[in-house]
Amino acid sequence: MEPEVTIKRRKSRQIHVGSVPVGGDAPISVQSMTNTDTCDVDATVAQIRALEGVGADIVRVSVPTMDAAEAFGKIRKQVSLPLVADIHYDYKIALKVADEGADCLRINPGNIGREDRVRAVIESARDHGVPIRIGVNAGSLEKELQRKYGEPTSDALVESALRHAEILDRYDFQDFKVSVKASNVFMTLQAYRKLASQIEQPLHLGVTEAGTFRSGTVKSSVALGGLLMEGIGDTIRVSLAADPVEEIRVGFDILKSLNLRKKGVNIIACPSCSRQNFDVIKTVNELEARLEDINESVDLAVIGCLVNGPGEAREVDVGLTGGTPNNLSYADGQKSHHIKSENLVDELERMVRAKVARQREDEEKGVILRSE
Ligand code: SF4
Repeated sequence: MEPEVTIKRRKSRQIHVGSVPVGGDAPISVQSMTNTDTCDVDATVAQIRALEGVGADIVRVSVPTMDAAEAFGKIRKQVSLPLVADIHYDYKIALKVADEGADCLRINPGNIGREDRVRAVIESARDHGVPIRIGVNAGSLEKELQRKYGEPTSDALVESALRHAEILDRYDFQDFKVSVKASNVFMTLQAYRKLASQIEQPLHLGVTEAGTFRSGTVKSSVALGGLLMEGIGDTIRVSLAADPVEEIRVGFDILKSLNLRKKGVNIIACPSCSRQNFDVIKTVNELEARLEDINESVDLAVIGCLVNGPGEAREVDVGLTGGTPNNLSYADGQKSHHIKSENLVDELERMVRAKVARQREDEEKGVILRSE
């Protein structure tokens, strides 16, 4: 078997967003952002819970007004996930949400304005023990940098980020993370690469305005995948013009594909062709929907025929190879039993859930043994 490639991660300083460590040797966290009206507390709480349901580590909530800041406080009390308050310019909103229990402030210090206001926000973050995220975006670069560079470039993004970082540094505030997002994949890659060698803080990766579910997923996978393979990135957000729940799913899929996080059922499936002994596409789509609630790491291979079936099925927790007259299942790398095509979805679901139950039992035994 091909030896597993280990990605050597850039060593960053660790910060905490609520209970979630970001940077250092912490698992790469996956986050999304609500797209409800923040003042609609019930809708926003429901969306945060939906994101929690699919495994989100952190959720960002936009706080454009003082009314939204009030609502943020109410939301904070009803959910357990760490919340990042997204603020632009208005330092009073930043102070308010820090008091209301925000776990991180996304605000660019250079945009706050007067020095006393900058100081007030930084001191408030320090007093509450919350980090700041500097979020630089190619679409909203400072006018001065737009003039200097003529158009958004990776150097302009990095210069902007470093300017904001220098302000925090001046106040000896080191608990921050930084993003330098562009909608262009190459600009994003270059900006993060350049920034990674210039600061020690964790990096929040993302491609901004990435697009629809399909094109956004592709762009994010290429850009974030490239950076993550180079060891760059401590937390990720996949931006999609789609349900935020999908952002979390795609984020985890990117990390799973690089063995950086293991969460949920990893389905390996052949694309199918006329050799298939059952309808591969229909089967895997049904299985994906049925197994969505599982957070444990399970590898499941569903392969249409004997050409590649046994080879793949033997390497995973639960495997299936199409065959005539019946398909053959594998459990933990060993041949298990034959399954008729009409029973495939039910039976493979049962086998995956049985595997999860065994994993949980082993974990409990391990906990008991460790505590003895
Ligand atoms: S594994 Fe078999 S069914 Fe699947 S694509 Fe390959 S040849 Fe076709």
